[in-house]
Amino acid sequence: NYSLKQLQQIDAAHHLHPFTDHKELREVGSRMITRAEGPFIYDSEGTELLDGMAGLWCVNVGYGRDELAEAAYAQMKEMPYYNSFFKCSTPTPVLLSKKLSELAPDNINQVFYGSSGSESNDTALRLVRHYWALEGKPEKNRIISRKMAYHGSTVAGTSLGGMDGMHHQLGGAVPNIVHVMMPYAYELAQAGESDHDFGLRAAKSVEDAILEAGAENVAAFIGEPIMGAGGVKIPPASYWPEIQRICRKYDVLLMLDEVITGYGRTGEWFAAQTFGIEADTITTAKALTSGYQPLSALLVGDRIAATLVDKGGEFYHGYTYSGHPVACAVALKNLEIIEREGLVERVKTDTGPYFAQMLKERIAGHGLVGEVRSVGLMGAIEIVKDKATKQRFSPGGSAAVVVRDHAIANGMMMRATGDSMILSPPLIWTRATIDMACDRILKALDLAQADLRT
Ligand code: PLP
Repeated sequence: NYSLKQLQQIDAAHHLHPFTDHKELREVGSRMITRAEGPFIYDSEGTELLDGMAGLWCVNVGYGRDELAEAAYAQMKEMPYYNSFFKCSTPTPVLLSKKLSELAPDNINQVFYGSSGSESNDTALRLVRHYWALEGKPEKNRIISRKMAYHGSTVAGTSLGGMDGMHHQLGGAVPNIVHVMMPYAYELAQAGESDHDFGLRAAKSVEDAILEAGAENVAAFIGEPIMGAGGVKIPPASYWPEIQRICRKYDVLLMLDEVITGYGRTGEWFAAQTFGIEADTITTAKALTSGYQPLSALLVGDRIAATLVDKGGEFYHGYTYSGHPVACAVALKNLEIIEREGLVERVKTDTGPYFAQMLKERIAGHGLVGEVRSVGLMGAIEIVKDKATKQRFSPGGSAAVVVRDHAIANGMMMRATGDSMILSPPLIWTRATIDMACDRILKALDLAQADLRT
């Protein structure tokens, strides 16, 4: 048995963490999360934290689900691994594909598996370019994305994404991807511009990018229905219908990245259904297994699938773990739990609306809060110095980090991105859990206010 101190020393000596300043980590040492149950996580010292982020937006059914462990164990004993290359398969990816086709929007009936959202976006990028090549239009290969988008950390994911910091560190991007404005009215709407008009203007930036390149050169537009890592940026209601109209007008494919929003988070199985969008590809991962196994599923629309199948030839693409039988067995059980417990419906009719109401009634009035926003159980609290002018404390958003640190110290695990405090909890949260979260967040806001005002 290792002590916390020993684990921290070994960690600092040997373990490179994602998205981490290692010099800082060496000074403070990692918090070792060693146990979790329901909506709570516990560190090695026994500290209880309410997990407001469902891990990394993924543990939708909460922690401690024996059924998922049992599904994995049973599958490992029966058939731990075989691939789905060379006209082989194991049964669980087959059954999962059927289930996903039933849950997905009507135009989607085919699934391609990977192990992560990043991989799945790589697949999506290669697939849409392959589609246009099969259609005899290989030059139709430009992809339009958005600033502040997050589509993963592989080279393709980073190139599709719109994070400046990641582009700077990239060292060689996938060519022919352009980024237009994000649809975030609170920051980008002009004085007097309604949310509706702003949504149309943000969508127009996509049309402008298509016209600039020439529609004959544009393969697809990709977007998260609600930007997640970029700060839970919720577009105005006018945005997605207009994007859909523009894509259809110019025959540009519509790719949705639902790695966060998939599997119930917005109160429907997919945010495509929440926003009424028909997409050609939907990237999903995370909550597909509630994070209990690494698995991603690219949901492929009939239009692309028909060309891929009917035109024949091999799609030179695949991963050793595409359709991993154990991960797929866990996904099937996870979806069964979500259905059996009515979690999607509960988010839509009960906890989602209550969450929005509590954010507005209890949090929005706080002196540090410029805006609260949410859809289903996905929300953000925007930290500002001055509510009236929307002035920030400092560019780059260190104020939210102060709030986050107080939140964690007061039993509330949250994330800060820029000036946004993010919440994306397990879908098992009840009204009582939401009340508990608001109590802890308010305390953190008060403590942060004292720090930031001095
Ligand atoms: N796309 C979105 C919208 C995400 O939020 C993420 C991860 O947070 C990814 C893609 C990448 O997924 P992964 O970390 O599983 O590669």
